[in-house]
Amino acid sequence: MAYDDQNVFVKILRGEIPCDKVYEDDWALAFNDIAPQAPKHVLVIPKGAYVSMDDFTANGSSDEIAGFFRAVGAVARQLGAVEPGYRFLSNIGPDAHQEVMHLHVHVFAGTDLGRMIKKGLT
Ligand code: AMP
Repeated sequence: MAYDDQNVFVKILRGEIPCDKVYEDDWALAFNDIAPQAPKHVLVIPKGAYVSMDDFTANGSSDEIAGFFRAVGAVARQLGAVEPGYRFLSNIGPDAHQEVMHLHVHVFAGTDLGRMIKKGLT
C-alpha cells in the first residue's frame, strides 16, 4: 500500500493538528489516544513515513527501527508502567482493524489488561 501523506498521524507530526504529547525524540513521537481503551493508552509513531509495521520492518533502516523501539520502551518507563506491566500492540491491515495508515504502536497500561485476544478465534 502506498503511503498517504494526508493521514491524521502525519498531520500531527507536521504540527497541522494538535496532540496531547507524552514523549518525543529524534525517532518517534508519542501522544495520548483520543479514545482511550485503558487508563493509560498512548500511541507511539515513527517520524518516518511508514504505513505499518510490515512496511517498517521491510523498509526502515536499522537506526530507525532501533530508535523507534527504544522510544516505545522509554514511553512505558515514563508512564511508570514497567511494574506491574503493560501491553503494546500494532494493528496491521483490515483483519486487525488498522484505521490509521501511519505505523503506530498502542501502549496500554494502568490496570489488569486481561488476556491477549478475543476468545473463540481458533
Ligand atoms: P488502529 O485501529 O490501530 O489504526 O488505531 C488508531 C487509533 O488512533 C485509535 O485508537 C484512535 O482512537 C486513535 N486516533 C485517531 N485519531 C487520533 C488523534 N487525532 N489523536 C489521538 N489518537 C487518535
